[in-house]
Amino acid sequence: MTALLQGRGLSKRFGAVVATADLDIEVRSGEIHAVIGPNGAGKSTLLSLLSGEIRPDSGRILLDGRDVTRMPVHRRARLGLGRTFQVSSVLASFTVLENVAIAIQARLRSGWRLLKPADTDPELNEPARLVLERLSLLELADRRAAELAHGERRLLELAVTLATKPKFLLLDEPFAGVATGDGERLVRVLDLARREFGLLLVEHDMQAVFRLADRVTVLVQGRCIATGTPTEVRADRAVRAAYLGEPRGGTD
Ligand code: ADP
Ligand code: MG
Repeated sequence: MTALLQGRGLSKRFGAVVATADLDIEVRSGEIHAVIGPNGAGKSTLLSLLSGEIRPDSGRILLDGRDVTRMPVHRRARLGLGRTFQVSSVLASFTVLENVAIAIQARLRSGWRLLKPADTDPELNEPARLVLERLSLLELADRRAAELAHGERRLLELAVTLATKPKFLLLDEPFAGVATGDGERLVRVLDLARREFGLLLVEHDMQAVFRLADRVTVLVQGRCIATGTPTEVRADRAVRAAYLGEPRGGTD
């Protein structure tokens, strides 16, 4: 299987801090690839390098085999690299259905515009409903975004992002601050999404990672110390010592 998103030898320093050091990563189509590691390991930096928000000091990024290392965020996005939107970009006074319809409209036209609900094309309600249905979120359709609980808003952000039909999604700690019940729904939504997208997920919530991920990369101090299936990674001695906080047992 070919990797749709690849980082090769990615290094990034902030002054004296080495945020990522000669990092290799590959995400395949249809897989959920999780990046875990302690605070400050370089996880968010890696996502920003891949999405184009920051440039690496050295190394290359390939999207679908094409070198995008120097390409700005919006051009990568046009090639199908999506990142969950910030909470602030969900339109608070609009309903969930309207938010999704607007995202579809933005994909069909070019770029985002500020719209009033009256401006949204009613013909987009049907495809918007389909997006929500596929994600088992139809029951939220008529709720205003402003009234949603934190976890529900995360689900909406995901629906809005998926409506823009990315090939790839980069998610930075989607489970942070999400209550257990909504976390379960988020697991289900991501599980459904994997059939259509490659997903790179940075996460602290180990339970979610081990349930969802096809492969896991473990970062410590900007370096990759292990990549493999959840089972392989869980059994890896270096991972247990460095990340899971277990004492080192003998030498490798
Ligand atoms: P993680 O997401 O794994 O917690 P980050 O990628 O946010 O780690 O940070 C990695 C290291 O790089 C940390 O030491 C952090 O302080 C530093 N860092 C990240 N972004 C910046 C920045 N914009 N300016 C200076 N230092 C940064
Ligand atoms: Mg982070």
